[in-house]
Amino acid sequence: MVWVPLGTMGCELPEAVGGPGLTGGASALTQASECQSLPMDQRDSLMPPIEAAFPIGVQLDPSLPQEVQESATWAMSVWNQFAKSQLGYEFFEIKRWDASLRDSRPQDSGDCSFDKADEQMGFRVFRVETLEAWRSLGFSESNPAATLRCQSKGRLTRQTIGLYLPSLRAGQTRSVVLHELGHALGLDHSCEMRSNGNERFVACQEIPAGHPYRIASMYPTLRVGSRSGSANSSGSTSSSDEVKEMLQENDRTRAFCLYRGRSVGGAQ
Ligand SMILES: [Zn+2]
Repeated sequence: MVWVPLGTMGCELPEAVGGPGLTGGASALTQASECQSLPMDQRDSLMPPIEAAFPIGVQLDPSLPQEVQESATWAMSVWNQFAKSQLGYEFFEIKRWDASLRDSRPQDSGDCSFDKADEQMGFRVFRVETLEAWRSLGFSESNPAATLRCQSKGRLTRQTIGLYLPSLRAGQTRSVVLHELGHALGLDHSCEMRSNGNERFVACQEIPAGHPYRIASMYPTLRVGSRSGSANSSGSTSSSDEVKEMLQENDRTRAFCLYRGRSVGGAQ
């Protein structure tokens, strides 16, 4: 049995001051980690939220195969359905790929100087072409996808999602993008993979099968069926590949905590 790690990575912007759009006053959202409706062991499972007018634009790399673009669009609609019903607005909308951005993707794991997708907090889902490029971002062949978030002074300044297709199993594309969009919204994993146990962020090893954190979309790994050879795993699907195509209570509760009380257009 193999587990596919679903990455997220943060980098701190070197600039002392945040970029455009970050000049608002203290946000209620900065207190997100104090979300009282969260269990204590989830209090550190939140990252800085998106502070911009919703919906924000998401640009899909036109070099992504059609079925991957469709899966991404589907995953956005799942998050939008949740937001529409619980918050009264939608998180994401598809925006046209802006080909005029020159430096539109990070070059290495510490690169937070890539172009923002737009003046709001829109972001891009881009295709990583080579394993070398993927490694330079800090990921390994076992990672199919990752969200890179840049922050300054505790606030999100820009972000992007990278997809490494050779490691993405066809049947798991929706599950993977749904998970990455959760990171983009500011959800860290439902449990901490390497933790030895922290009362504010529970270790995954302490969670039994079937636990709400285990079945969450934001659990750090997806199970895949055994591969009969490492050479031809690209795009393959096994019936025992784990699929998570719904938001679970843990995902919804944490997203609600981050965004409740926010009105549309409110970066206040
Ligand atoms: Zn992840």
